[in-house]
Amino acid sequence: MPPRVVRARFVVGCDGAHSATRRLAGIDFAGRSFPQRFLLADVEADGLERGRVHVFLARTGPMFLFPLGTPASWRLIVTLPRSAPRGPVTLPVVQAAVASHTREHIVVHHPAWLTEFTVSSRLAEAFRRGRVFLAGDAAHIHSPAGAQGMNTGIQDAVNLGWKLALVCHGEAVPALLRSHERERMPVARAVLAMTDRAFRVATVQIPVQGPGSADRQSPDSRRLGTPVRAHRNAA
Ligand SMILES: Cc1cc2nc3c(=O)[nH]c(=O)nc-3n(C[C@H](O)[C@H](O)[C@H](O)COP(=O)(O)OP(=O)(O)OC[C@H]3O[C@@H](n4cnc5c(N)ncnc54)[C@H](O)[C@@H]3O)c2cc1C
Repeated sequence: MPPRVVRARFVVGCDGAHSATRRLAGIDFAGRSFPQRFLLADVEADGLERGRVHVFLARTGPMFLFPLGTPASWRLIVTLPRSAPRGPVTLPVVQAAVASHTREHIVVHHPAWLTEFTVSSRLAEAFRRGRVFLAGDAAHIHSPAGAQGMNTGIQDAVNLGWKLALVCHGEAVPALLRSHERERMPVARAVLAMTDRAFRVATVQIPVQGPGSADRQSPDSRRLGTPVRAHRNAA
């Protein structure tokens, strides 16, 4: 699309983790990136009991299989071994990562999509500079542990949206807009602290004790109504 010039009273940068809006507004995005690499795939899988979340604990790190339904039966998140070469994510790469986490014979096939991701934990130093605002991943990114990124970003946008609408229609004073950062920054800080903690716990490297598996009913799994099976039969 050719560039267009738009004149607007306000700009909201909802342009994700690599936000050009944030960069052009000169807002720092301090934090850190974690070294672990993960594969994410929506796949069919043979050799797994259906209707459960499966968690495999291996030396490499955890592997999760969540029952999905569409576009495939399972959502797989698996830690890549540190020695894994860099390159395109293919089904054999995913299968090798699965095999490195379990001695159970799990065969993955018919992927709806495959990708690799890494995890960063970063917070914009400000959610506003003059008439420029930030919302969503442009303002904060963190580990997907706890599944809060999109939800937090939508709440940023809702918080800002109605205030901008009132100010633009002359129904509220511009000072109302100051409350966006005041209200949303503590939420983002709390989410980062929680997800950092959860990520460290999930990826801590501890010796894995002998084979075995057990059903776990964490408070979250009870809320979801999906039982969790934890496996300790790492390859
Ligand atoms: C593995 C994984 C699992 C996750 N699971 C969950 C979950 O279960 N629940 C949850 O709440 N969150 C989850 N998240 C987080 C969630 O995906 C993000 O927080 C969310 O997508 C951020 O939305 P956003 O609109 O702020 O940014 P993005 O989704 O990154 O969207 C930004 C948009 O801006 C566009 N853009 C960027 N630059 C420009 C430009 N210069 N010009 C024009 N357009 C531009 C991009 O193309 C993109 O469409 C997960 C993330 C990961 C990595």
